[in-house]
Amino acid sequence: MGWATHYTLSSTGDAGAATLGAVSSSPRVSQVSVPVSAQLFERAAAVIPGGVNSPVRAFNSVGGTPRFIASARGCTLTDADGNDYVDLVCSWGPMILGHAHPEIVEAVQRAATLGLSFGAPTEAEILLAEAIAARVDPVERVRLVNSGTEATMSAVRLARGFTGRSKIIKFSGCYHGHVDALLADAGSGVATLGLPTSPGVTGAQAADTIVLPYNDLEAVAAAFTANPGEIACVITEAAAGNMGAVAPQPGFNAGLRKLTSDNGALLIMDEVMTGFRVSHSGWYGIDGVAGDLYTFGKVMSGGLPAAAFGGRADIMNHLAPIGPVYQAGTLSGNPVAVAAGLATLRLADESVYATLDQNAKRLGGLFTDALTAAGVSHQVQFAGNMVSVFFSDTPVHDYAAAKASATWRFPAFFHALLERGVYAPPSAFEAWFVSAALDENAFDRIAAALPAAASAAAAATPEGSVA
Ligand SMILES: *Cc1c(COP(=O)(O)O)cnc(C)c1O
Repeated sequence: MGWATHYTLSSTGDAGAATLGAVSSSPRVSQVSVPVSAQLFERAAAVIPGGVNSPVRAFNSVGGTPRFIASARGCTLTDADGNDYVDLVCSWGPMILGHAHPEIVEAVQRAATLGLSFGAPTEAEILLAEAIAARVDPVERVRLVNSGTEATMSAVRLARGFTGRSKIIKFSGCYHGHVDALLADAGSGVATLGLPTSPGVTGAQAADTIVLPYNDLEAVAAAFTANPGEIACVITEAAAGNMGAVAPQPGFNAGLRKLTSDNGALLIMDEVMTGFRVSHSGWYGIDGVAGDLYTFGKVMSGGLPAAAFGGRADIMNHLAPIGPVYQAGTLSGNPVAVAAGLATLRLADESVYATLDQNAKRLGGLFTDALTAAGVSHQVQFAGNMVSVFFSDTPVHDYAAAKASATWRFPAFFHALLERGVYAPPSAFEAWFVSAALDENAFDRIAAALPAAASAAAAATPEGSVA
């Protein structure tokens, strides 16, 4: 997610690095001119590691020059060279209403004139917490934080503090922010203990993390059997979006609910990506499986830095100042971020969700048409209104299958779209995000660009050269 995300752990890890070498050996002729972005990227690299503040933005897995964005409005991004793009990233999810929505901008401006930060409580924080709790039944208490990473980090700490247990289960290919304990990824092994993916994460930090394949309930049952009374929680993306869109198989989330309850562990539903995007109530609104704790971010702060965790009152009441589990934040509940979140949630009504669903279906249909016509074997996958294209013969249900797909087709597909004014996520392991602001012009542009992108994907080879 954006974000860094995906750099090591779940998505663009090794696969991205592997692709990078291939891409740089095949310079492509761009139809758009980006001298200003190129110059900015060079300047940025001299002062910011890799030139970016979150790795996937650097285009490492697709090659080429990242576009520096000057402005955005509705479904359109404008880069520093004045090129326009239809935005299918939406800031990695948050911008469901499109960019610079006038009512959200106004809410932010109004809040800013009243003061930027107080370090004391405000009424608006109550309204946002109430709005979240009203949308997601199992959420009885909410605490605001500043990023999804903080939300998952705090939820895991709380789960450990509440249960008095140390071990946690996460799934390979699920991304929960760059929390040390959650940067563990076992690769292909089942129930592999504590292999840190990133240097800087110590064995001790990762040792209590059990990494299992997504959509594999038997592996979860086996891990509970092997670690009796030791597992504090299972954390899962309510529907995986960080290895591409990989929905839980029917019964998977319900199975996690049952296994955690049976074993005295908590279920943390990470809805940072799905929350308030895939339905009014997030993924909970789609499958109705109740977690004990939830994490939110992205949509709930409308593009400003805020996030939240919440859940059962008896668990949340273990937090300071009423309980012993410490958690705090200088800017938590920041009034400007809260105003953006409140305005976004107020505007995100059923008609917005219906439009997002329609737009996702329409985009997926265009993918299918173009790739079928070009003879490229592929899977268009949905997790609610998050969409992905996997260059694979068979449906992708876990990270191993995602990595085994023909990801080497992706850079050619991506660049052919970019050159025709369509801004896709710069990684084969990311979901594509629609907004409700996509209009007929945007879909015309996408439909016009896709045949060439599908041909480019068809012509790509694993070595990275275009035949
Ligand atoms: C984006 C994301 C995070 C991390 O959120 P940040 O705000 O980038 O720290 C955590 N979990 C999921 C499922 C995400 O998609």
